Amino acid sequence: MPTALTGLSLAEVSTLMETLGQPAFRAGQVLDWVWKKKVGSIEEMSNLPASLRAQLAEKHRLHALDHAQTQGSADTTRKFLFRLHDGRYVESVLIPANPALYGERADRRTLCVSSQVGCAYGCKFCASGLAGFSRQLGPDEIAGQVLAAERLSGERVDNLVFMGMGEPFANYDNLMAAIEILTAEWGLHLGARHLTISTSGLVPRIRDLADHPQQIRLAISLHGATDEVRDQIMPVNRKWKTAELFEALDYWNSRKKQHLTLEYILIQGVNDDLEQAAILARHARRLRAKVNLIPYNKVDGLDWVRPSETRCRAFRDVLKDAGVSATLRLEKGHDIDAACGQLRLKQETSEGIVEAPMK
Ligand code: SAH
Ligand code: SF4
Repeated sequence: MPTALTGLSLAEVSTLMETLGQPAFRAGQVLDWVWKKKVGSIEEMSNLPASLRAQLAEKHRLHALDHAQTQGSADTTRKFLFRLHDGRYVESVLIPANPALYGERADRRTLCVSSQVGCAYGCKFCASGLAGFSRQLGPDEIAGQVLAAERLSGERVDNLVFMGMGEPFANYDNLMAAIEILTAEWGLHLGARHLTISTSGLVPRIRDLADHPQQIRLAISLHGATDEVRDQIMPVNRKWKTAELFEALDYWNSRKKQHLTLEYILIQGVNDDLEQAAILARHARRLRAKVNLIPYNKVDGLDWVRPSETRCRAFRDVLKDAGVSATLRLEKGHDIDAACGQLRLKQETSEGIVEAPMK
């Protein structure tokens, strides 16, 4: 299946126009219809000759995603379910303003974007990892989620977090191609500083992003401050130990001004003892990272338990007392952590869309 227009860069659209015997300015016109005017079909690109529209429509789809379903409403978190050309599904979550988070302005909207269908990393607490990995998303399917969310909501998305389904760093080339489109002047023109990639810790890619010229933010799903704890819940830690991970984060700091975010899900009896908090505090201080504490959200079929509020607060206080900037949100439902990061594979049956069976 050729890439939809939402996955092509200016250079690629220019080459396409050239092969169709069109003048160079046509590339800009096409991209303007896609990203600025946000049209629903190639037919609507009214300043292109009809013959060109016909040729384009023959070769390329405009959009890579079909909207299947929306959950939620305008003043809450909305979850969009999209059907892909091969019948698989992917989700994005549009989150209303949450000034407590990432220092957004009060009127900002954040979209949580998926990078893969499923995830191969199999973290023991995560819904996205449960059913395993299906396939990579193309640049058209990644960038297309943002365009689709804007078209469906009629609202402008200001912040992106790559915290949906999948491990973005395991789909690095497609991710970066999508980011080029999303940040380009001719594209959605989002500021790189408003993009956050979250990774479970793929060390070589952390170094790659540290060397990348754009000021994209990085969040690390740490969830344990020692190998002992991380090994229990995150298979990725068998490949890259915490020492290597922290070394890569030092490298990040040597290359970047943006502060890192360390994400830490609190799971009772697994990673919530105050000794872990003290070790986490030492690392966070040295790395000048802020810590985002996320009380575990229940996933059907998994037995992990969220610690008590008292324990969550005590854990946060160890960080605060050590001078680390730490956030802990105990309210449920509304915020990013409750909605994002727990997306689960869907599949179609005769009864409609159901959650994929768990292993
Ligand atoms: N694969 C990347 C991007 C997905 S981000 C990563 O792991 O960073 C998804 C975020 O939601 C991660 O921080 C993940 O650890 C977190 N998450 C997964 N399951 C969760 C759960 N049950 N409760 C709270 N957070 C969860
Ligand atoms: Fe994959 Fe991230 Fe879930 Fe781990 S937490 S299984 S890396 S999506």
